[in-house]
Amino acid sequence: MSRQAGCPEEAKKVAAEIETDIVVAMRRSAARAEVCAVPDGYRVAGPAPAAAVAVHDPEAAVTLIELARVRGWALVPRGGGSQDGWGATVSREPVVVMDTRGLAGIVSYTPGDLTARVRAGTSVADLNAQLRSHGQCLGSSAPGADATLGGVVSGDDFGPARLAYGSARDWVLGLSVLDGAGRMFVTGGNVVKNVSGLDVGKLFVGGFGSLGVVTEVAVRLRPLPLCRRLWAAAFVDAAAAWDAVRAVWAGAFQPTGVALMGGEDGVTRLAVLLEGTAADVDAQVTDLAGLASGAAVMDERASGRAWSAGCGAGHRAGGLAVRSEVPEGALADLYAAAAGWPGKPERTAWPGLGVLWSVWPLGRGVGASLLDAVRAARAASEAVGGRALVAASPPEIRAEVEVFGDPGPLRTAFKSVKDHFDPDGVLVPGRFVGGL
Ligand SMILES: Cc1cc2nc3c(=O)[nH]c(=O)nc-3n(C[C@H](O)[C@H](O)[C@H](O)COP(=O)(O)OP(=O)(O)OC[C@H]3O[C@@H](n4cnc5c(N)ncnc54)[C@H](O)[C@@H]3O)c2cc1C
Repeated sequence: MSRQAGCPEEAKKVAAEIETDIVVAMRRSAARAEVCAVPDGYRVAGPAPAAAVAVHDPEAAVTLIELARVRGWALVPRGGGSQDGWGATVSREPVVVMDTRGLAGIVSYTPGDLTARVRAGTSVADLNAQLRSHGQCLGSSAPGADATLGGVVSGDDFGPARLAYGSARDWVLGLSVLDGAGRMFVTGGNVVKNVSGLDVGKLFVGGFGSLGVVTEVAVRLRPLPLCRRLWAAAFVDAAAAWDAVRAVWAGAFQPTGVALMGGEDGVTRLAVLLEGTAADVDAQVTDLAGLASGAAVMDERASGRAWSAGCGAGHRAGGLAVRSEVPEGALADLYAAAAGWPGKPERTAWPGLGVLWSVWPLGRGVGASLLDAVRAARAASEAVGGRALVAASPPEIRAEVEVFGDPGPLRTAFKSVKDHFDPDGVLVPGRFVGGL
């Protein structure tokens, strides 16, 4: 049975009942978990959570899933929480957050094979710290101390370095997942060439936790680059910055990632990440300077700041962020057109990936004007054969638009997959494609 926690007193009562249920059930199943505080002001996309539970083993996750099925709760798995504001509105109350960070640690690691199997709550930073002594790292660019493997896989976010590294779909070799009926699936394997037939695990990548709670991830690793340098320059003329990008593609450059940002000051910043041998990287830096005639080349620290700003474009706190994904040849024109969209968004392009981030920071445009802005971004992206994902958004926007876009005839297929893996609709109901 679903319950709405309307007034504060009722909310407290519901939270206390949930806590008692959880404590009793965990004691009975001897699973390791504890009820923890819901951070002040914390919201997953949707209603305020009534409770949060830190799980420390898969048995605790199973116990919580079973309780949620019986009690009618909406369960939201959460790692580092960097994508809390993403997705459509969770459609059922009470919401119980499953904090997965206790599912931490490396299960197995074979440096010679460049593979590892890791518990899903492990942070990318911790994993990379342990891999570093073997001269290896995760094949992902996900930065920040908070990002967890499970969150990176389930959110399938990426940065400009996807150009070289790919995204989670490329480096995930296998998964252990608990579905919404509490059944454990083990898909794929621990070796690089292990998939024949249907690669079912890919269903869970980018599923926002709507089909299952990831408990372990088998990953492909890569060697640490011998040399890594950021190069950035500020262009007064945006067209010159785009010319430099085209020259990068036409030349002998092998960038790991490229980000181009329009600033409030009218200046366009171009940041390029280069990796390889020191000699190779140095040669590319020299050649890049040649492409930037008339631009102000930044020092190392400023280049680092420009790159970080480019990577985190869709993760500014509050406000609205739309990610357009279009054919590469249409990117420069879309970037230029976005300057004229309602509310004049901040723009960051990731050349090579066909990605444009349009960001309306908190306070820039409200209600109807933001809706118009989303419609303008979506129409322009679709007109060139692309699509637009509404990443972070205020609740009034989420209520009005399909944040993942209209799935069209695929809605029925999505629905039957959801019904199969989550028959009672306990896993983040409403948050994923088509409001499933
Ligand atoms: C400033 C900034 C810059 C960034 N730059 C980059 C970049 O350059 N490259 C890049 O790749 N990424 C980048 N990111 C993205 C970031 O790495 C991911 O958003 C983040 O890693 C997701 O991890 P998380 O643990 O915070 O996920 P969360 O936000 O906790 O979760 C993400 C989604 O997955 C679900 N989920 C979480 N854990 C599980 C689980 N175990 N099982 C099932 N579902 C789960 C959640 O319900 C949610 O829907 C950046 C983020 C920030 C804040």
